[in-house]
Amino acid sequence: MSTFTEPDPTPLALMLLGQQADPNTERGIECPGDLPPISDPELVAEVRAAKAELGDRLFVLGHHYQRDEVIQFADVTGDSFKLAQQAAARPEAEFIVFCGVHFMAESADILTTPDQQVILPDLAAGCSMADMANIKQVEDSWKILQQHGLAAGTVPITYMNSSAAIKSFTGRNGGAVCTSSNAHQSLTWAFEQGERVLFLPDQHLGRNTAVLEMGLTLDDCVVYDPHKPEGGLTQQELANAKMVLWRGHCSVHGHFTPETVDEVRERVPGINVLVHPEVRYEVAIKADLIGSTEYIIKTIEAAEPGSKWAIGTELNLVRRLALQHPDKEIVFLDRSVCFCATMNRIDLPHLNWSLQELRRGNVVNRIVVDDETSHWAKVALDRMLALPGVNSANVSGD
Ligand code: SF4
Repeated sequence: MSTFTEPDPTPLALMLLGQQADPNTERGIECPGDLPPISDPELVAEVRAAKAELGDRLFVLGHHYQRDEVIQFADVTGDSFKLAQQAAARPEAEFIVFCGVHFMAESADILTTPDQQVILPDLAAGCSMADMANIKQVEDSWKILQQHGLAAGTVPITYMNSSAAIKSFTGRNGGAVCTSSNAHQSLTWAFEQGERVLFLPDQHLGRNTAVLEMGLTLDDCVVYDPHKPEGGLTQQELANAKMVLWRGHCSVHGHFTPETVDEVRERVPGINVLVHPEVRYEVAIKADLIGSTEYIIKTIEAAEPGSKWAIGTELNLVRRLALQHPDKEIVFLDRSVCFCATMNRIDLPHLNWSLQELRRGNVVNRIVVDDETSHWAKVALDRMLALPGVNSANVSGD
């Protein structure tokens, strides 16, 4: 029987919720210290009472990267797309409390009925990756492609981890959404529609899929930097590219380095390295297996007792897997603490606050996507679901 060894704390302390901002860190992505302490246990009874009182009117969704103190109250756990679908499958639930991040709550609002109200317990729970592509920047990039006469041959594909506005842009311009489990199918479809893909906002998922799964080369990929004039690319570079990768990334997954893989292989002989496709290409090529969070969970569930695993994804999920599978040796890929700080803004006090307000008849922190945005975002989501081999039951992502 193995025990999970906690990674070492990093020197910086976690910012207290809502109290200050660190100008030297990108929002939500640093690995700033030890995991936050467990909240006041007395709140557990309050949350339980609120859930009992609200009954079927309430449906609580918990993303895999949430803390245990929150996950224990989730009516369903999963990745972003599965959770949004689960909300849509519960039309009797008036209140959908989404324990996840902003773009996920938007997706839930897009897929649910107008009578269902989606609530994000802390509005500061954003996603640093989704925030790396805003709609103005993306529309500017499209104008550049149009000016170069390249937009007509370019198909936009956006990862699920993007704002509703970006999904809507994709739908309006003939593109589709993808998740980390079906990026290959989305890209295959896109290359049947055009000669080039504008891949938003995660450059790593785009590159890893194109090069490792589809046989494209690194030279087929260019990186569009929204902070540089013309994206930092010449007309010729854009024209030659098959994959125009947006310069975005998840720094939780981007934190892993090739050295962390070498180090864990040296430390634990015979270990299997299992990573999420949001990791850098240099890490992906050193891993044994790559896949979405659902894939990671299923791989560990199916693994032989006594097998050894280093997992490169968010720390809360890795810790939970280690606790659930004591017959396997499971370690975090990195030695130091690295978790999604924005995701972890949803803690017991915030969950409790939103539920107590509902109990009093107040809907707080409602996430609403306007009809026009919702319509085109849904077009892009439906195009993904119509892809060969993709159906709502086998879609999974971050
Ligand atoms: S883990 Fe990365 S991609 Fe997922 S919500 Fe956090 S910042 Fe965004």
